[in-house]
Amino acid sequence: MGFTTIGAAPVHAKHKASCHCGAVELRLDLPDGVVDPRRCNCSYCRRRGTIVASVPLSGLHVVKGAEHLKLYTFNTQTAKHYFCSICGIHTHHQRRSNPALYGYNLACLDGIDPFDLPDVPTSDGVHHPADRHAE
Ligand SMILES: [Zn+2]
Repeated sequence: MGFTTIGAAPVHAKHKASCHCGAVELRLDLPDGVVDPRRCNCSYCRRRGTIVASVPLSGLHVVKGAEHLKLYTFNTQTAKHYFCSICGIHTHHQRRSNPALYGYNLACLDGIDPFDLPDVPTSDGVHHPADRHAE
């Protein structure tokens, strides 16, 4: 089960999310609320600093601005990080540890303040499980 409220704000079963400038708008299916919010310490996420939560690929819909989304990949090219090419805000990414999931930027959720979340765990992306096979 996830967070169905964050601070005083309700998490809707279908929740709108947007980048900073509003060019990109997403609709997220969050029937269980915000599931598994976390930070990550990998070389990319530590710079970005966002809290992300997960949703199945079928639970994320780009409502508007698909043409403004840019894709960034690095290292194994598995994770696909999308950001708004106008304002630069990361909206979502296809996860490397489970490509059946998108991670989305919690701070993009309409009306939600990520600073209202209690302690957020950090994923050890520096020592990613997928990297252990390379040794
Ligand atoms: Zn934008």
